[in-house]
Amino acid sequence: MKYLIITLLTLSFMPVWQKKDAFESARNRMVDDQISARGISDAATLQAMRKVPRHLFVPPEYEKEAYSDRPLPIGYDQTISQPFIVAYMTELARPSKGKIALEIGTGSGYQAAVLAEIVDTVYTIEIVPELAWESTARLNLLEYKNIITRYGDGYQGWREHAPFDIIIVTAAADHIPEPLKEQLAEDGRLVMPVGDPATIQQLVLLTKRKGRVIVTTLEPVRFVPLKRLK
Ligand code: SAH
Repeated sequence: MKYLIITLLTLSFMPVWQKKDAFESARNRMVDDQISARGISDAATLQAMRKVPRHLFVPPEYEKEAYSDRPLPIGYDQTISQPFIVAYMTELARPSKGKIALEIGTGSGYQAAVLAEIVDTVYTIEIVPELAWESTARLNLLEYKNIITRYGDGYQGWREHAPFDIIIVTAAADHIPEPLKEQLAEDGRLVMPVGDPATIQQLVLLTKRKGRVIVTTLEPVRFVPLKRLK
């Protein structure tokens, strides 16, 4: 009986493993052609992008496009970012072992998973209840035990777990929320698209050194708007 159960369990999970293998070369090609070739060189970031099964973070109808060079719809008018943008934001945040990260805008959970391959703990907040639930289930299934998810408005950050070494905001606003600046640790790095949420924004890097905040403006990007709970 025990063996029957083990066999049945193995069989029921098999498709996930097989698909994972089937997409491995597509994933390596994505990293080589879209990410390394465009100047991302942080070894930990590249390794994480080679590992996380992106095709399991997109709706089944987009599975075949999971490793293509563009964002994809994940339902509820939201998108999973283009692979290059995920890698770029990850590298900018300088992730390493021992760090604690906060992500605003869990979406599919993909960016959280990439970070979680490198840092100790990722806290992530999602404002669309269905996406919060779906990404939590997905991350549990994939056994990301160091990702803590929450439904809510990320504008306020997550005070109980602050300060954070890394804060990544994956939705756009015309300013950096004050609570997020406050919850950034000394020597911490915050990466966020800032500008007109309806059109184009600039990716901004905010660092905190000796209590002083330094803001650097980087590439133009296009993200979905940061919403607020009424
Ligand atoms: N990081 C995601 C993609 C983000 S898309 C991924 O890897 O798949 C942006 C996400 O931010 C959407 O899911 C959107 O619902 C969410 N969002 C928008 N405003 C928010 C807010 N105030 N707090 C938390 N999440 C928010």
